[in-house]
Amino acid sequence: MTVSPHEAIDTAYFDVVIVGAGISGLGAAYRLLQRNPELSYTILERRERIGGTWDLFRYPGVRSDSSIFTLSFPYEPWTRKEGVADGDHIREYLTHTAHKYGIDRHIRFNSHVLAADWDSATDTWTVTFEQGGVAQQCRSRFVFFGSGYYNYDQGYTPEFPGIEQFGGTVVHPQHWPEDLDYAGKKVVVIGSGATAVTLIPSMAERAGKVTMLQRSPTYLISGSKYSRFAAGARKVLPRKASHLAIRMYNALLEAAFWFLSRKTPRLIKWLLRRMAIKNLPAGYDVDTHFKPTYNPWDQRLCLIPDADLYTAIADGRADVVTDHIDHFDATGIALKSGVHLDADMVVTATGLQLQALGGVKISLDGVGINPCDRFVYKAHMLEDVPNLFWCVGYTNASWTLRADMTARATVKLLAHMAAHGYTHAYPHRGDEPMTEKPSWDIQAGYVLRSLHALPRSGTKRPWNVRQNYFADAIDYRFDRIEEAMVFGRAADRAAVVG
Ligand SMILES: Cc1cc2nc3c(=O)[nH]c(=O)nc-3n(C[C@H](O)[C@H](O)[C@H](O)COP(=O)(O)OP(=O)(O)OC[C@H]3O[C@@H](n4cnc5c(N)ncnc54)[C@H](O)[C@@H]3O)c2cc1C
Repeated sequence: MTVSPHEAIDTAYFDVVIVGAGISGLGAAYRLLQRNPELSYTILERRERIGGTWDLFRYPGVRSDSSIFTLSFPYEPWTRKEGVADGDHIREYLTHTAHKYGIDRHIRFNSHVLAADWDSATDTWTVTFEQGGVAQQCRSRFVFFGSGYYNYDQGYTPEFPGIEQFGGTVVHPQHWPEDLDYAGKKVVVIGSGATAVTLIPSMAERAGKVTMLQRSPTYLISGSKYSRFAAGARKVLPRKASHLAIRMYNALLEAAFWFLSRKTPRLIKWLLRRMAIKNLPAGYDVDTHFKPTYNPWDQRLCLIPDADLYTAIADGRADVVTDHIDHFDATGIALKSGVHLDADMVVTATGLQLQALGGVKISLDGVGINPCDRFVYKAHMLEDVPNLFWCVGYTNASWTLRADMTARATVKLLAHMAAHGYTHAYPHRGDEPMTEKPSWDIQAGYVLRSLHALPRSGTKRPWNVRQNYFADAIDYRFDRIEEAMVFGRAADRAAVVG
């Protein structure tokens, strides 16, 4: 949508503008209410509903692939029985949480943020957003980006030769049509990541046959949907205390498994292979289809609750083909090996496109900057960019573990600034040389093909983006708020609207 600046009609002023009403944006609003209740805020959300990822993704079987106890908020207990939650239930939980704390009253839906410009004379951001085709503006002292990490408009689909010849339906999981009928159909799912292994067992319940077509295998781990620890803790502890205990237990479990995978890959490889052999039919070619060449957690490990994918294969409702696509034709996919996969429908579970800051154009005093040229400070601020926060979760643990820490660090900084009368704060690295490393040091395809889409990570604190919840939690506990941070007051304070 093209909008012209002169259509701007809204010059409302807020202390904080939050972009996005998903886990991160709602979590930031809650922490703000708790710590800085005197500050005004609005949430600008481009969609019509709360939930972000959990509203956008509607493919069959969509669910969490990490424990819901760590994906949920620490202050709002997850009360359902299952520890791996369906997308619908996560959306309901987020909607309920937003309503309970009155956060939903602050959300402006259908408000697509396009640009944010910092004015150093007044220490305010001018945020331009599009609502119903009209460009609007508001001003704020702070901007918090809870806009997720991928492009909402488009998923990633590689160029497949001849795809236009295909006579069946092609669908990307990011844009699942509500009324898509696949009952009795031959479905090929391209990909073997979390999305593919989630939707295949679910589609296999109604489809004629579902084939997972992968170039190379992925590590899968089977775990129960229900946690005995959770059931036990709920019996003996009050609701909030049990939620915190289960949350911590799961965070520890996930961290321990990740640590063991990195330190003893051979043991974990052996374990995962045993799991596959135990759940697949005797004589199944586990090594071709489920034995990756990389080490566990070089790429994200995919959860299959109660081995559902293996069960679908064992029941003959799903199968796996490990091969390369040569081309599409009218009736399906011709593979490099010469095999032809007949298909009525092809699902391209080929991933996401990374995107920082929701694609919003950032400028400082009218001069555009590329956030991806900047180093990230304590994983949530950008070098030399004042009063701006970015909320990104872990790649090896539940998103909310870091999202909540980011929200708390943000409101702590805001409270510190209020106490000292500062109107701006920005992290500054100066001329200190910094060795770089990837911000997301995971070998997943969607990360590798767009490393340039993320801001930069250094190797030394506070510029080191780590994937280590417990180390970050300790750092956060002993955080020095003034470390590498420049504080100040606006030159022209009178112009700050209050
Ligand atoms: C299919 C899928 C499954 C996942 N499963 C898990 C899991 O099990 N565990 C886990 O830890 N992580 C998982 N993730 C990662 C997941 O995205 C996070 O868990 C979490 O939901 C991210 O929350 P968020 O609020 O930061 O971002 P999002 O959920 O992406 O929400 C961002 C919000 O910002 C809005 N927005 C973006 N740009 C703009 C803009 N310019 N203007 C206005 N609004 C904007 C969007 O519309 C959206 O509502 C999964 C991701 C996907 C895609």
